[in-house]
Amino acid sequence: MTTSQTRVRQHIGGHWADSRNGRTFESLDPWSGDVVATVAAGDQDDTRAAIDAAHRAFPSWSESLPFERQRIFLRAADIVERRRAEVLSLLARETGCTWHFGDIQLDFTLSLLRQSAALPYGALGQMMPSDQPGTRAMAVRRPVGVVAAIAPWNAALTLTGRAIAAPLALGNTVVLKPSEEAPACGALWAEIFAEAGMPPGVLNVVTHAPGEAALIGEELVANPLVRRLNFTGSTVTGRRLAEAAGRHLKRVLMQLGGQNPMIVLEGVDLDYAVDAAAFGAFVHQGQVCMCARRIYVERAIADEFAERFAAKVTGLPFGDPSDPATVIGPVINQWALSTISRRVDEAVAGGARVLAGGTPKPPCYPATVLTDVPDDIELAFDETFGPVVVLTVVEDREDAIARANASPFGLTASVLAANSVEGFEVARRVSAGIVHVNDQPVNDEPQMPFGGSKDSGWGRFGVGFAAEDFTELQWVTTRDERREFPF
Ligand code: ADP
Repeated sequence: MTTSQTRVRQHIGGHWADSRNGRTFESLDPWSGDVVATVAAGDQDDTRAAIDAAHRAFPSWSESLPFERQRIFLRAADIVERRRAEVLSLLARETGCTWHFGDIQLDFTLSLLRQSAALPYGALGQMMPSDQPGTRAMAVRRPVGVVAAIAPWNAALTLTGRAIAAPLALGNTVVLKPSEEAPACGALWAEIFAEAGMPPGVLNVVTHAPGEAALIGEELVANPLVRRLNFTGSTVTGRRLAEAAGRHLKRVLMQLGGQNPMIVLEGVDLDYAVDAAAFGAFVHQGQVCMCARRIYVERAIADEFAERFAAKVTGLPFGDPSDPATVIGPVINQWALSTISRRVDEAVAGGARVLAGGTPKPPCYPATVLTDVPDDIELAFDETFGPVVVLTVVEDREDAIARANASPFGLTASVLAANSVEGFEVARRVSAGIVHVNDQPVNDEPQMPFGGSKDSGWGRFGVGFAAEDFTELQWVTTRDERREFPF
């Protein structure tokens, strides 16, 4: 269906289905332009059917025994492991993902599934002390019902996986809307879980044509049977969804964009800092929300850092993502390529200097470093989803912290210093949901409290933290004795 065949159908109520309207679209390989799959172009009708199927499946799934749920997750992990090469190939073909980033996604996914397998055995609540004699009071976590998951294309396997794994393991049923840029990767999840023995209707996948995400999104937000929504994507789309969710009083978990700072302090091991910055800025051709977008270097080491960094970045090979030697694969589509080019050109026209890259090589954009970028240029203040990083010299660490925090975003940050104590003193003053000292900002492990602050969103993915968003806390009391009432 997905990796083996070129037809992607929707997965609704345990069946593979074309869209009700009969339309399809083509998912294209960003490197070759070849058709990866012909995909069902679903709409509100399919979404409603998927929500209904998920709603019907909820009572028995939420009451299933922990060992039944655990077994499905462990089997799913084994299936991913068995199909590793095939999944890596699909990631490369559908999303331009290089082998090294594919490996990162695969390892994360195996760990995510195996950790999620323990969730059904998590404690469900606490006993609460009560001042009512004879009352037993509890705070009990219960699954919420149907959870909608909207995922992006960039880390198509992991970001879709984390959007569904904990909600499912906690006893919810799910309607997944993968990105129009990675529908086969989204449908792959339904295939894996179906083979692992997931009952029909527990995980449903609705796919749609480019430009039609809102048809699905509006239904997911407005339909009263959907009790929670999690979204990973751009701040622009997240804001729109959160506004709509507010109208429907629907709780949403938002994982949005980043404009992530990396602070490089005097005394650091410069070679290490250069390697860390190159990975942090350019992994998956800079198409990761956690990528370093702004590097602040203390003046005393700025020239040396800039020279070594530019030399390293200039040598990063770009091209075919299926070639294991490739570091920078293609960007996802023509629109993305032209946005990156336009923003770099605007910066250069505004006085920026190009230290590396700076010229598109379609369908790739080579790794690019700019400096002297004016603060009011889009590249300086907005997330640019591609392999471009802005290097800025700062006078001292106070200046670095002030600049790092002068952004509406707050996803990740990193500080590179002579030692971890010095780095931590700076890191703890940076306003971001995630900060790494003596590491670059692109890190994820399934158990970590992953999430942003400010315009980068709210809520935390993370296997042990997901219950906060994907269960309802219910206060329950029980009594056997009669109690006295005032009248
Ligand atoms: P990205 O730049 O990562 O593609 P988007 O926010 O555009 O960021 O996309 C992330 C996810 O949000 C994708 O699944 C996309 O289809 C979806 N999306 C885009 N617009 C809407 C919308 N109006 N309603 C619901 N989902 C949307």
